[in-house]
Amino acid sequence: MNPADGLRLRSWQDELMAVIDALGRPLGDLRISVTDRCNFRCVYCMPKEVFGRDYEFLDRAELLTFEEIERVARIFVALGVSKIRLTGGEPLVRRDIERLIEMLAAIDGLDLALTTNGSMLATRARGLGEAGLRRVTVSLDSLDDDVFKAMNDVDFPVGRVLGGIEAAAVAGLGPVKINMVLKRGLNENSILPMARYFHGTGHIVRFIEYMDVGSTNGWRLDDIVPAREVVATIDAEMPLEPVDPNYRGEVANRYRYKDGGGEIGVIASVTQPFCANCTRARISAEGKLYTCLFATRGHDLRELVRGGAPDHEIADVIASLWKVREDRYSEIRSSETAGLEKIEMSYIGG
Ligand code: SAM
Ligand code: SF4
Ligand code: SF4
Repeated sequence: MNPADGLRLRSWQDELMAVIDALGRPLGDLRISVTDRCNFRCVYCMPKEVFGRDYEFLDRAELLTFEEIERVARIFVALGVSKIRLTGGEPLVRRDIERLIEMLAAIDGLDLALTTNGSMLATRARGLGEAGLRRVTVSLDSLDDDVFKAMNDVDFPVGRVLGGIEAAAVAGLGPVKINMVLKRGLNENSILPMARYFHGTGHIVRFIEYMDVGSTNGWRLDDIVPAREVVATIDAEMPLEPVDPNYRGEVANRYRYKDGGGEIGVIASVTQPFCANCTRARISAEGKLYTCLFATRGHDLRELVRGGAPDHEIADVIASLWKVREDRYSEIRSSETAGLEKIEMSYIGG
């Protein structure tokens, strides 16, 4: 940001009421996808039939550079964003991501986190911590090697992800949140082993209902394992009680073990949608802004950034888009919405 822009943005900011959308939801957090590539082919996210050898990923020149990401991030923070999560694709396949983390960690008052499949964490956690990262979420869908391999579809073993979680804790990135997406018939038998394994460790497993993101995963309503079933299954063996949310817009419903063994979360995006409190914007790796995970099109910020627009103009565009936002896809999910051409999760960033 050049200094003159900074001044204009600040004075513009002084006059600014919080940026609130058409349904009364403030702009509070931002997910930035840093790459659309991944070393896994999770069956519910990047099925091999679609994301095979011939699939055309974005060229390097199309990706926002680290400097561009930092600039856009600072503008979002000026507009009220206090949490940024780096995601993808797999964010750790973006070369030198530690440098971006260092740049973003320097933004005052920003809560910075990253979501990863954990495959590279064992060797990278320390560097990420040294770059200023404080929180990491690791996705892990089963503790059973056969099930996990069937889900990641690249023969990746569980042990290496568990090693990554340990390394993250040692590097000060814990307590780690562990995301487990549940798909009926694939991994519901892994719910209890997962809960038992992390009970008492301080790490928090979050069980996620499989969503109809994108248009390639062949989602059917029957594929989901409802959150209430997850809670009942765990509660029957290790009694749970509900906990209040930490903040407005928290997507996970929290439960704690009555024996003091820590907590779990369930993300009931399908059976108990949380659109009414959704304060989240997303930027794809090529700089398109999406105001909903289920959006069918985004707004090109890269064009503005590369076209020489000053910060206050970019801020204006973002604020204008947010102010007219009416997205609430999960609340209106129906046979009509099922046919929409939605953006893939690996592109828009989960
Ligand atoms: N590659 C990283 C990872 O897997 O953690 C970051 C990107 S991934 C798209 C972000 C999160 O979205 C992961 O926890 C993943 O399990 C979840 N996810 C992907 N597809 C999903 C779907 N169809 N429904 C629910 N969650 C999904
Ligand atoms: Fe890759 Fe994450 Fe999607 Fe799995 S969920 S394919 S690890 S981007
Ligand atoms: Fe937010 Fe869209 Fe998800 Fe609703 S469906 S919670 S508006 S991202």
